[in-house]
Amino acid sequence: MTTKIAVNEVFETIQGEAHYTGTPSVFIRLHGCDVGCPWCDTKYTWRLSEGAERPLAEILAKPSGQPTFAWATAEELVDVVGRYRARHVVITGGEPCRFDLTELTAALAASGYTVQIETSGTEPVRVHARTWVTVSPKIDMPGGRVVRRDAVLRANELKMPVGKPADVDKLRSFLAEHQGGPQLVWLQPLSRSQKATALCIEAATANGWRVSIQTHELIGIR
Ligand code: SF4
Repeated sequence: MTTKIAVNEVFETIQGEAHYTGTPSVFIRLHGCDVGCPWCDTKYTWRLSEGAERPLAEILAKPSGQPTFAWATAEELVDVVGRYRARHVVITGGEPCRFDLTELTAALAASGYTVQIETSGTEPVRVHARTWVTVSPKIDMPGGRVVRRDAVLRANELKMPVGKPADVDKLRSFLAEHQGGPQLVWLQPLSRSQKATALCIEAATANGWRVSIQTHELIGIR
């Protein structure tokens, strides 16, 4: 049976964060998330309401920031990605791992793309073996979802949103509890505030981590 995936938007840009920073990419933003991060900048993807379903062509043509979505197959999405020039595909959300992404990531890899997913780690990661997995662990969020150990162990990199010193403490405890996870750990200053950025630089320097700035926002692109 062909899996259908809820898609909120597809667009081409430069990946602005972490390992693939600077890479021209096609972003596939999936719809649906129940993690509930208070500072989430894609709240419009949270609810899969029936009335918000639209044909795929309409979703591809709409402006960003709308709560509408389309159900699409892996085959349809590979066709959509092929209309762009970038050869790297980022599957994000919402929480993309609410869906089984094995078929989509395998089809993209078979078509010659490098493929990355960005997940909160609260759902099983079902992807093709060559997929680069970025886990941005959302710890103690209002949705009450727990970051899964198997997601952390599958990750190629961790990217932790940091706004205050307590976030760094949480990350330290989290890493101690998840030994065997990726060596590549990024701190990402929330809202790129000066205070959060200074904190990230200090903590990264002290712990052998790295700082990920949302560079796409610095240059005013999506
Ligand atoms: Fe938003 Fe991502 Fe948090 Fe979901 S996991 S609420 S999409 S930031």
